[in-house]
Amino acid sequence: MYIYKEYYNGLLPNKPDSFLLLHFMNKAYLLLGSNLGDRKKYLSDAVTLLEIHAGKITLKSMLYNTAPWGVTDQDDFLNQAVCVETKLSAQQLLENILYIEEKLGRIRIQKWEARTIDIDILFFNSDIISTDNLTVPHPFLHQRRFALLPLSEIEGNFIHPVLKKSVKILLADCDQNLVVDLV
Ligand code: ADP
Ligand code: MG
Repeated sequence: MYIYKEYYNGLLPNKPDSFLLLHFMNKAYLLLGSNLGDRKKYLSDAVTLLEIHAGKITLKSMLYNTAPWGVTDQDDFLNQAVCVETKLSAQQLLENILYIEEKLGRIRIQKWEARTIDIDILFFNSDIISTDNLTVPHPFLHQRRFALLPLSEIEGNFIHPVLKKSVKILLADCDQNLVVDLV
C-alpha cells in the first residue's frame, strides 16, 4: 500500500503538520478480455473508462489472442493485463467495473459466454477477500495461462498471497495448454 503525505502549510506556517493528509492508494491488477465485436476497441475503451472511474493505469501488457476457456465453442478472446492505482476499496472497484462492463454493452445471460468486455480483479494489493460477490485473488488465476501470461509481462514477481508463489512460477507450473499468442 502506498501512502502519500501532503503537507499543507500555507495558512499555518508554524504548524506544518496540522493539515497532514493521508491518502491510501491501492494497487489492483486486472485482466481485460473481449471476444465480441471490435475487440481491440473494447479493450482501449475499457482502459479509458477505468482511468475515469477507477484510477491511474500505471502498467499495461501487450494484447494476447487466446483460445476460449470454459465454454470453448466461441470466438477467440483478446486479453490484456493492467495495473490500476486506485483510492477505491475492492468492493467499490468491483461496482465500478460492473458499471463499465454495462456501459460497454456487456450482456450477461449465460456463464462464460461471448462478451464485449470482461474485467476481472486478479489481485488487490496482497489482500485476501472472500465475500458473496468478490473473491480475490481471482479464484481461477493460477489455472489460466491467458491471465498469467499477460500478468507476468507486467508484474512477474508479484507473490500470490494465498499460494505464496510468484506469477512467473505460477505460469511455469500452469499446465493449461490453450493457445495464447501475442497480437
Ligand atoms: P466471469 O468473469 O467468470 O466470466 P462474470 O464476469 O460474469 O464472470 O462475473 C460474475 C461475477 O463474478 C461478478 O458479478 C462478480 O460479482 C463476481 N466476482 C467474484 N470475484 C471476482 C473478481 N475477482 N473479479 C471480478 N468479478 C468477480
Ligand atoms: Mg468477469
